[in-house]
Amino acid sequence: MFTKILIANRGEIACRVIQTARSMGVRTVAVYSDADAQALHVTQADEAVRLGPAPVADSYLRGELIIQAALDTGAEAIHPGYGFLSENPDFVDAVTAAGLIFIGPSADAIRAMGLKDAAKALMVKAGVPVVPGYHGDRQEPDFLADQAAKIGYPVLIKAVAGGGGKGMRLVEKAADFAENLASAQAEAQTAFGNPDVLIEKYITAPRHIEVQVFGDGTDAVHLFERDCSLQRRHQKVIEEAPAPGMTCAVRKAMGDAAVKAAKAIGYAGAGTVEFIVDGSDGLRTDGFWFMEMNTRLQVEHPVTEAITGVDLVEWQLRVAAGDALPSQQDELSITGHAFEARLYAEDVPAGFLPATGVIDHLSFPTHARIDSGVTAGDEISPWYDPMIAKVTVHGPDRARALQSLSAALDAIQVAGTVTNLGFLRHLARAPDFVSGDVDTGLIERHSDTLCAKPSPTPRDLAVAAATAAEIAEGPLTGFTLWQPPQRLIVLKEAEEETIAQLTVESANTCTVQIGETEVRLLRRAGHWGSPAILHNGRVTVFGTESFTFEIVNPLARSEEAMGGDTVLAPMPGLVRAVAVDVGQTVEEGDRLVVLEAMKMEHVLRAPRAGVIADVAVATGDQVTAGALMIRLEDET
Ligand code: ADP
Ligand code: ADP
Ligand code: MG
Repeated sequence: MFTKILIANRGEIACRVIQTARSMGVRTVAVYSDADAQALHVTQADEAVRLGPAPVADSYLRGELIIQAALDTGAEAIHPGYGFLSENPDFVDAVTAAGLIFIGPSADAIRAMGLKDAAKALMVKAGVPVVPGYHGDRQEPDFLADQAAKIGYPVLIKAVAGGGGKGMRLVEKAADFAENLASAQAEAQTAFGNPDVLIEKYITAPRHIEVQVFGDGTDAVHLFERDCSLQRRHQKVIEEAPAPGMTCAVRKAMGDAAVKAAKAIGYAGAGTVEFIVDGSDGLRTDGFWFMEMNTRLQVEHPVTEAITGVDLVEWQLRVAAGDALPSQQDELSITGHAFEARLYAEDVPAGFLPATGVIDHLSFPTHARIDSGVTAGDEISPWYDPMIAKVTVHGPDRARALQSLSAALDAIQVAGTVTNLGFLRHLARAPDFVSGDVDTGLIERHSDTLCAKPSPTPRDLAVAAATAAEIAEGPLTGFTLWQPPQRLIVLKEAEEETIAQLTVESANTCTVQIGETEVRLLRRAGHWGSPAILHNGRVTVFGTESFTFEIVNPLARSEEAMGGDTVLAPMPGLVRAVAVDVGQTVEEGDRLVVLEAMKMEHVLRAPRAGVIADVAVATGDQVTAGALMIRLEDET
């Protein structure tokens, strides 16, 4: 076995590899960009080497720097993780030329599967079923349009160099073909530097079922299937193993086909053979077709580890170090059922926009396996994938594993950035998913309910207000510390402001008036009703839906308005008194107006010295929030 390896990656997968290496007594070297100098993978590794600035082209894609780092630190092998250089055959050649070992397949195997068209041709030869379509060299638009007509609509245009769903277009009818072809080619050129496409029959309501394979260069086995049908724009969201409705016969047919694919290229290491499956009438031995092979460890490998008990990274290290396959096919079996959900910093109602921000608070349940590369205080930066964690659960059967997934998702707390947690929680309870009736269109069909922007309830607002009150006032320990015992808290969420009036009744009870609604809260286990935390001038309330509110200081806001020339009503209220007249000179901090809002009086003071130019309100006026009350001008 190696004594030291370098991990050419970041985030959760770098941490994942370090964990297994450590358990095997193998020392680890991390590499990092300037944005990751304090990252978890850097602190967890035995040594770390800086690569360069944050952009991946200056850091994690600098193969020559990574190889030099391995040589300098005495690492014998390089683990590429997934993404970045993991499927780059030139990098593998360079690693080998430097006298190091690449923990993965040979450069030739990667090349053979690198382009989808060549891979399909190879699979046809090996006797593996492929999706009907055109995967030849010709790229003239008219020729491809003819092929599409021959295949029969709907068809899928795919970039041959594609990945991550990019350069892919579904075309429903001939009239739309030319336009979609042009945009797929343009996107492929930008993303992969290769505009070539292939045309495939589009399988309606398909399932994505993939087979985990493992080879040692001579022999290969499979570690059963994963169902990755829950996708959004061809990106996986929740994966599971085994596939719902799988039969022994179909599993054997798919497993055999995948092993045939791996053996056809003398595969060494962990790989995944992806199939598109027609699930419209149950799974059939003649109803699956090869899509592509990913020649690396897959993001969703933990579900396979959960049902087989195999540590795939350990297998990778052993085979790369020269061991034969650690297990034969008949020694492998499935126990129970597993799910993995991908937790991302993204704004779901805004169309799954990647989000950034500092994670102020992060808490995970103990009953799930958590693969994460971040910790509280870390920033989700715009430079890399916004993944926060993968949440994997295992249970004796599908129903209980899914229940465990829901419970795990419900227990996760993240504050500081928006996440897809609410979406995942809804998805885990979606009736079609619960019943195992999955296909790649499920999320899209239910996107209205899955992606809806929830609104906070009066109770959420009340909990936020009570929690927010503690920053200004210290713990709510009762009347005596409170002058007065009532206060107003202004909360802002999604551009919407709410005024909450808080009345403390005892150390552990308060009532919060929000509009017409009164909510009574009890303090239990340090929380006002629900768990909530204060962070960075904001308060986050955790529940089935989590909400983050900005705590607005209405008085400060009115003073800042328009550079201090105007005093606006910070909230709706009744003008109790006006203390100044037009032409009067005032000093900063002088009383101008007394406003009563929700039975409390607020004194509005001069934001700076000056002369009163305008008094727009009179005692007894009812004003709306933002109404002009006083205008100041400079002394002349
Ligand atoms: P997998 O099947 O392992 O999930 P995908 O086909 O989804 O892989 O993605 C292919 C590669 O693209 C992965 O190696 C992953 O690193 C990368 N990738 C996936 N999603 C994103 C993303 N949102 N942003 C950047 N890279 C991504
Ligand atoms: P990528 O390299 O981007 O992962 P894939 O070829 O693996 O590309 O396809 C990604 C996803 O697109 C699949 O998981 C599936 O949801 C969908 N897809 C691919 N091929 C077909 C097809 N022929 N018919 C229907 N859906 C398909
Ligand atoms: Mg794929």
